[in-house]
Amino acid sequence: MAAPAPWASTKVASAPSGPSYKKLAMSESILQNEGTIRLTIFLGVLAGMALWELAAPRRILTQNKPYRWFGNLGIVVLNTALGRLLFPILAVGAAYWAEQNFWGLFNWLALPGWLEVAVAAALLDLTVYWQHRLFHKIPLLWRLHRMHHADPDFDVTTALRFHPLKIALSMLIKLGAVAILGPAALAVLIFEVLLNGTAMFNHGNVRLPLGLDRWLRLLVVTPHMRRVHHSVEAGEYNSNFGFNLPWWDRLFGSYRAQPVLGHDEMRIGLPEYGGGICANLIWMLVLPFKPLQAESQGIEHDQG
Ligand SMILES: [Zn+2]
Repeated sequence: MAAPAPWASTKVASAPSGPSYKKLAMSESILQNEGTIRLTIFLGVLAGMALWELAAPRRILTQNKPYRWFGNLGIVVLNTALGRLLFPILAVGAAYWAEQNFWGLFNWLALPGWLEVAVAAALLDLTVYWQHRLFHKIPLLWRLHRMHHADPDFDVTTALRFHPLKIALSMLIKLGAVAILGPAALAVLIFEVLLNGTAMFNHGNVRLPLGLDRWLRLLVVTPHMRRVHHSVEAGEYNSNFGFNLPWWDRLFGSYRAQPVLGHDEMRIGLPEYGGGICANLIWMLVLPFKPLQAESQGIEHDQG
């Protein structure tokens, strides 16, 4: 009996009728190393941005930096510990599960690997963009998100300052998106690393030449774009919602190029709160339970 042609086995492995075993094996190895890969890149980007902020800061910070960093980094430790306790699988694990069970859009489509990674990462980024808009629009969600905006200064640690309840809700939304889309575990890992890395980059209190910023913001959200989102002015903090890709804001009418008062004069934070108390870890944790004040109610007042 003649041996099967080489293409025959390839066709079976990548047929849209069942999972690809080569892909599954790669996803399994990604899943096993996810923690190490993410932690290494996280610490590398954090250290790099912290040094850049020391060497070329864009604005003078208004609060005591060690005290503020203790609060912002304390939240990261708390969120990481709670995440491990509450979620038996994270987004990369959910993608692996979807692959194993041949579930979700991308598993049925069987696109070339590179295209699947690019399209899946862009769609997950779009999900995060709309999720961010909803967190501003719906008062109950704004309660959870405003801790991020209450930071009276804007630097790399602001990128990490999210309430544990907000993190838990975001994770549920992400798991839902992964279950529907069924992207490769590699695509989800790349997206998670990019989301975390670009968030730390674009929250950086770093000096970037304006000419370079103009070009860079065609491809990625830059610190100047992101700083507008941290203004105390409602029209400004209800703009520039993107984390990775800058295109969604332009496409959906929420793009604002610069703050009205300029990057030196603009005020950072929330209109109703200010000062060192906003950097206190306990204050941050109880903020969702404090009543919403007139200044930040109505939220997306003048979205255009
Ligand atoms: Zn926001």
